[in-house]
Amino acid sequence: MRNEVRPRVTLVGAGPGDPELITLKGVLALNKADVVLYDALIDRALLHHAPDKALKIFVGKRHGSHQNPQDETNRLCVVYAQKYGHVVRLKGGDPFVFGRGAEELDYIQQFGIDTAVVPGISSTVAVPASVGIPVTKRGISESYWVITGTTSSGALSDDLKLACRSKATVVLLMGTKKLKEIVHTYEAHGLTDKPIAIVERGTTREEKVVAGTMEDIVAKATEQQIGAPAIIVIGEVVRESPRLRAVYEEVLCEHQLISWSNE
Ligand code: SAH
Repeated sequence: MRNEVRPRVTLVGAGPGDPELITLKGVLALNKADVVLYDALIDRALLHHAPDKALKIFVGKRHGSHQNPQDETNRLCVVYAQKYGHVVRLKGGDPFVFGRGAEELDYIQQFGIDTAVVPGISSTVAVPASVGIPVTKRGISESYWVITGTTSSGALSDDLKLACRSKATVVLLMGTKKLKEIVHTYEAHGLTDKPIAIVERGTTREEKVVAGTMEDIVAKATEQQIGAPAIIVIGEVVRESPRLRAVYEEVLCEHQLISWSNE
């Protein structure tokens, strides 16, 4: 007799990019997946942790789709869990940090499906760390704010105006297209010397980094063709990175920075 399907969904944080930065619990959940639904920022190497026979389905943004991709993803979680059993919903970084993980769980739970969450290493701390930037450091930064550059209305979060008046380290996600607006916010408060770094595809082999101050960062980012996905780190801690220190000491230019290696 065929085993009865027990629908369940595990939301798993895949980490910031480097496939070795997933948690052991995340790998164990993948080992037991019947279906894996994964996003655009997921390294495909992680799919090897799932059984060969598991379905692996990409649910990142698709062009030309009329349906809201988020609604479609929510629906697929339910449909696949009911049909096949254990769905692992693999999401970049930590599922609850700007990942819409909570919305997915709310939707799935309406159907009486069991859910679990496996936290992930968020890019918000791991990407700065991967270029040597500590988000806090004694005597330099007592707190850090994680702010979105793109709120649900598409605008830069107003929280930046509050954060820039503090000594906090500011980590901005989804902000590369708003770089000029971000810089203007700091300039409006007379903070033109504030250190800022941008890391595109941190912890991966495609990583790109630029660093400078509010005065020169727009020109540097344009020259280096920095694009998404990227994290912007603002604050005195940026000067603390051994890799970026030279930028501020004006000994080397950023082209001479030692590159990050996954090996
Ligand atoms: N839940 C995720 C964040 C999802 S929002 C987490 O905890 O990390 C997606 C945004 O995260 C991207 O637009 C980018 O700003 C940032 N991001 C995620 N991975 C990144 C990486 N490897 N390098 C730089 N930025 C990254």
